[in-house]
Amino acid sequence: LDNVPHVFTILGASGDLAKKKIYPTLWWLYRDGLLPNVTWFVGYARSKMSLADVRAKCDQYMQVKPDEKEMYEKFWELNEYVAGSYDGRRDFELLNQEIAKKEKNMSANRLFYLALPPSVFEPCTTNIRNTCMATRGWTRVIIEKPFGKDSDSSAQLSNHLASLFKEEQIYRIDHYLGKEMVQNLMTLRFGNRIFGPTWNRENVASVLISFKEPFGTFGRGGYFDEFGIIRDVMQNHLLQILSLFAMEKPPSTNPDDIRDEKVKVLKSMKALKLSDVVLGQYTGDPDGEGEAQKGYLDDPTVPAGSITPTYALAVCHINNERWDGVPFILRCGKALNERKAEVRIQYHDVPGDIFGGQAKRNELVIRVQPGEAVYVKLMTKTPGINFELEETELDLTYTNRYKGVKLPDAYERLILDVFCGSQMHFVRSDELAQAWRIFTPLLKQIDGGQVTPIPYKYGSRGPKEADVMCDQNNFKYYGSYKWPGHKL
Ligand code: NAP
Ligand code: NAP
Repeated sequence: LDNVPHVFTILGASGDLAKKKIYPTLWWLYRDGLLPNVTWFVGYARSKMSLADVRAKCDQYMQVKPDEKEMYEKFWELNEYVAGSYDGRRDFELLNQEIAKKEKNMSANRLFYLALPPSVFEPCTTNIRNTCMATRGWTRVIIEKPFGKDSDSSAQLSNHLASLFKEEQIYRIDHYLGKEMVQNLMTLRFGNRIFGPTWNRENVASVLISFKEPFGTFGRGGYFDEFGIIRDVMQNHLLQILSLFAMEKPPSTNPDDIRDEKVKVLKSMKALKLSDVVLGQYTGDPDGEGEAQKGYLDDPTVPAGSITPTYALAVCHINNERWDGVPFILRCGKALNERKAEVRIQYHDVPGDIFGGQAKRNELVIRVQPGEAVYVKLMTKTPGINFELEETELDLTYTNRYKGVKLPDAYERLILDVFCGSQMHFVRSDELAQAWRIFTPLLKQIDGGQVTPIPYKYGSRGPKEADVMCDQNNFKYYGSYKWPGHKL
């Protein structure tokens, strides 16, 4: 296989995602010798530009070190740029000819990355199918969210793709599935006797899955406003984490065995209702600096009076034997006090207390970002002569334990997976359909203006109503835990 040519085509090569993520990722994979020996790259977009123009756009994101200059030149020598439309068959025939030139009549494999707005997904994929399929190798197509806006539009896209490609040719990216700690969820649970047997309603009181960003949408609000935070983060990234977290043990680590189990979790969840959620929208902080003074509605690209949520909390339940009655709280927001993505598993109070109510709940925290860490908050006897209890932790902080280990970026792992044909970390169409089933009725109500988001201040922790909802759903905050260690 080593000398089988691979041609990686980036559609939308003139765009933002291409320059910030796709080209840099391809360069890093090439630099680290992780790609097949013979790999070519073809950029495609409508803009009439030269390869030098493409390169100039990407340069600032490529992080080329002084001793990599020569290799960097070689990388660009493997590149090509072709200009053409997304709906013209003739243009794709020309693209096919360019790809074929690289393959030199050998059996070769082709990858297509759609770094394009969803409005052109359909014509573009139709043209790939009709004119650009590998004849003597495999063809794989990578697509980015949004995968529709609701159940109907998502089904339309899925049906369209299914009419052109087999499921094993379609790679739907959810870049959270490329993150180290998300990939570690299975190992922590199924590779450790201490966690696996506690992963159930008998031991777990609640699970809180959070995603927080410290910046707003200023200047990009027009794009965001069409989707809102639920479509942007919750329906995909957070729900993916939930299903991986909660699934039964798959018979093997085979991608479809895992995805089968994830789908079962989603099938056991009811569609969310308005009473299950808290929605918020940020307002400017008059005392803040720069952008923090601007609320969501102060952005001229946001329609006046928009009620699109920039914060959402949703309480989900999984109606199966393992999780019945355990609240899974999904929480995400923009313009908050910190950047953080984590899973927090809170255990029940110890039954038959003999410590006069001093014991606090155990909490297992899996921090996805920043600073990957796993820690368990637990009770210990206060060291010394007395017999008090205090909270402490068992702590696995990656930067301490794995000093100098470079964790690859999510896109690096995922693009490499596509070369390897591993769909473990990609979203299957039945998973996607279930995810939309859970959120579509709620989204319709929100889009229909049935709820006004609660204002919260830029830089705050979000609406207070969200803390109340957590409290009502068996997530206890004591405010007594002290962390003496490093600051992040
Ligand atoms: P983009 O820059 O707006 O678009 C990519 C390219 O598509 C443009 O350079 C343009 O190329 C072409 N294009 C733009 N609007 C078009 C239109 N109305 N009709 C036909 N062609 C059009 O988009 P992007 O930010 O790179 O994102 C690409 C995809 O990735 C989207 O689906 C987006 O939702 C998703 N995504 C992006 C990011 C990100 O960080 N940017 C993150 C996650 C997901 P030509 O005019 O040269 O053809
Ligand atoms: P904590 O102080 O008990 O807080 C738990 C969570 O409760 C917070 O993360 C916060 O998250 C939320 N919270 C804060 N104020 C609240 C309020 N008034 N009402 C309700 N909820 C509130 O424990 P911790 O956050 O796990 O740890 C404290 C600090 O130590 C953190 O900075 C943590 O990163 C650090 N630490 C680091 C490591 C490590 O790096 N290995 C290990 C242990 C601890 P939200 O704002 O998201 O709601």
